[in-house]
Amino acid sequence: MDFEALGLSPDLVKAVTNRGYTEPTPIQSKAIPLVLDGCDVLAAAQTGTGKTAAFVLPILQRLAFVGGARSRQVRTLVLTPTRELASQIHQSVLDYGQYLDLRSAVVFGGVKADPQIAALKQGVDVLIATPGRLLDLAQQGMVDFSALEVLVLDEADRMLDMGFIHDIRRIIDMLPVNRQTLMFSATFSKDIRSLAASYLVDPESVDV
Ligand code: AMP
Repeated sequence: MDFEALGLSPDLVKAVTNRGYTEPTPIQSKAIPLVLDGCDVLAAAQTGTGKTAAFVLPILQRLAFVGGARSRQVRTLVLTPTRELASQIHQSVLDYGQYLDLRSAVVFGGVKADPQIAALKQGVDVLIATPGRLLDLAQQGMVDFSALEVLVLDEADRMLDMGFIHDIRRIIDMLPVNRQTLMFSATFSKDIRSLAASYLVDPESVDV
């Protein structure tokens, strides 16, 4: 099975090929068709399995080819625990989206907020964020979630370990209820299951 057979467009397949990948990893083979179909997905995946591309590729495809005009409103939000992960995901969005007309931005704590606010003001289709800084910016009215279509909770177990549960719940309370939600976690504690039960609707489970 190659990337094209999973339903990805030529622009995305070309970008993936540029990065040197020839075959999808198991999580990519399983998750990409489900995400393209619009399903909520609960995926058990460690770092290193190729999980970033498993959600970034189908999301970019949906944003670029489904739903019409580029609104430059936040249509996808990715929450992830650390600034390193946020930066890596942002780089993947830039790489995989190199042939698409989409804008993205990343926000995380520990640095000045001004450049992040400036990026948000320009309008972004995909926003990658750590929960604390995003909540700050959202509470200052800097982020409009009214057009949000897809939420990704990446490394959900690490976000809970880092104490982000209240921030995450507050952020999700600001999002439209009618959306697609994807959750990735290496482990499945009671708290993770309860988070999934609160926010995913009839999720498809993916295990690799
Ligand atoms: P991740 O699990 O998303 O952190 O990805 C782990 C590593 O695998 C990253 O360095 C990716 O660039 C790489 N990777 C992702 N998908 C593929 C693929 N289909 N073939 C080869 N390497 C990949």
